[in-house]
Amino acid sequence: MRVSAPLVLFGGTFDPVHRAHISAARAVSRVLGDAPVHLLPNAVPPHRPQPLADGEQRLAMLRLACHDHPCLTPDDWELRQDGPSYSLNTLRHFREQHGERPLVFLIGADSFASLHHWHRWEEYAALCHLAIVPRPDSPLAADTVLARFPESDARGLCQQAAGLRLMLKRPFLDVSATAIRDALARKGTCPALDPDVIAHIHRHHLYNVPDCQPGTKHEAP
Ligand code: ATP
Repeated sequence: MRVSAPLVLFGGTFDPVHRAHISAARAVSRVLGDAPVHLLPNAVPPHRPQPLADGEQRLAMLRLACHDHPCLTPDDWELRQDGPSYSLNTLRHFREQHGERPLVFLIGADSFASLHHWHRWEEYAALCHLAIVPRPDSPLAADTVLARFPESDARGLCQQAAGLRLMLKRPFLDVSATAIRDALARKGTCPALDPDVIAHIHRHHLYNVPDCQPGTKHEAP
């Protein structure tokens, strides 16, 4: 039976990248034998309002947050494409690049619960596996989605190219970028952010941060 190291794809707005994103990516990487994870900020998210920070800033913050984690690679592929950032296009691109290598699409449980509304989601099963990270207060996924992706374990995902579902139990973190943007605008800081990301936010005056907060690390001008 063929066993090969999967490539994990983690799409999101990352506005900004936070502790739950990094913990989720590292957890999936570890479970899959230190599999590489590409974190892909979207250019034009099709299912939600436009991000506050532009693509370049979100990518810069991802680079800072991933710096100490060799298994994590910020990837600007979606930022370089025109039109809405449909995950289907990203999955097709990586499938073309990687032949029969297992591809794993990482999503939080809240996204998984709405997957049946995503653009041509039925086609995902021929392109990738799913790895789902739990998230507090997430609704249940649709039965059609559960049926399309049979549940498996990590070894199963390494033995075929696509079509299975891995449900992680951890991390389980009550963190959201929405709450973080709110905390930044009120207090200028948030414990769920990497200190280098906080410094970047202040340096570039992102998210309506108040001027110069005590206790935050600032980059040299
Ligand atoms: P926002 O609050 O702006 O909606 P977010 O915190 O949900 O942002 P996104 O960039 O939209 O972050 O999420 C990218 C991916 O990360 C999605 O699949 C989402 O489900 C997942 N994710 C984000 N936060 C968590 C979390 N706390 N636990 C599990 N998954 C998460």
